[in-house]
Amino acid sequence: MALDPDCIFCKIIDGLIPADIVFRNENVVAFNDLNPKAPTHVLIIPTVHTENAAGLAKISATITAALLSTADQIATDRNLNGYRTVFNTGADGGQTVFHAHLHLLGGRGLAWPPG
Ligand code: AMP
Ligand code: ZN
Repeated sequence: MALDPDCIFCKIIDGLIPADIVFRNENVVAFNDLNPKAPTHVLIIPTVHTENAAGLAKISATITAALLSTADQIATDRNLNGYRTVFNTGADGGQTVFHAHLHLLGGRGLAWPPG
């Protein structure tokens, strides 16, 4: 199915719940994270419902690549001095929303390794 009526990120795509959207096209929607972990913390999501990044890669290499190119475009527009992109997958990976999403984090120095 293209969108899942029970999925919070599908509801954002459909405009059924509000979000601070910073970019959208036919393949992706990007919006500010509700609980930001850095000065820039944007979530970039595919406009098709799928549980995680690997699932998205099986559906569309084009949209998977669009997540990354959108992140880079936003970082460039904001003159970020580097950034981090993260896909959390599964419980131990820290995933809490099961609609694939790419975190874009930047605007401060980011420690490595992450917690
Ligand atoms: P993850 O833990 O990788 O699944 O990331 C889910 C992210 O979605 C978290 O960073 C949340 O703060 C964020 N989030 C959850 N609900 C919303 C929402 N309605 N609008 C914006 N961000 C959200
Ligand atoms: Zn969804």
